[in-house]
Amino acid sequence: MAPIELRLAPGFPGYARHLLEKAARLIADPHENAGAVLLDGTGAEFAASTADLADGCAEPVVVDMARRAGLLDLRVLALVTAGAPNTGVTLPCGGCRQILWEAAFANDRDIEIYCADASLSEIVLVTATELLPR
Ligand SMILES: [Zn+2]
Repeated sequence: MAPIELRLAPGFPGYARHLLEKAARLIADPHENAGAVLLDGTGAEFAASTADLADGCAEPVVVDMARRAGLLDLRVLALVTAGAPNTGVTLPCGGCRQILWEAAFANDRDIEIYCADASLSEIVLVTATELLPR
């Protein structure tokens, strides 16, 4: 299945909207930062921003936070990235794709990944499995 382009419109899943809005609020610098929020099957949420990190991506941080909490039923990741206007949506990098796929594979359940720009005007839905090359 190819990535699905979405808009925040009636019918958009409320849980995904909540996670995206929370991730967008993590962005401190409108030109550089990314925010990630991960939802576990228990309803627990784990959030991190690249503004909090010396280096690297936010996705491995939230996956590690869930693991440390003993929660491995990862369901939904919201990833919001800032950047110049009209540069589109940024998808997870190669290393993060591997980490997300391994988390999904370990749980035998794919992870929905909503990626958006900082204004949430462009949203793409993919799964951890779809992001890995075959
Ligand atoms: Zn990454």
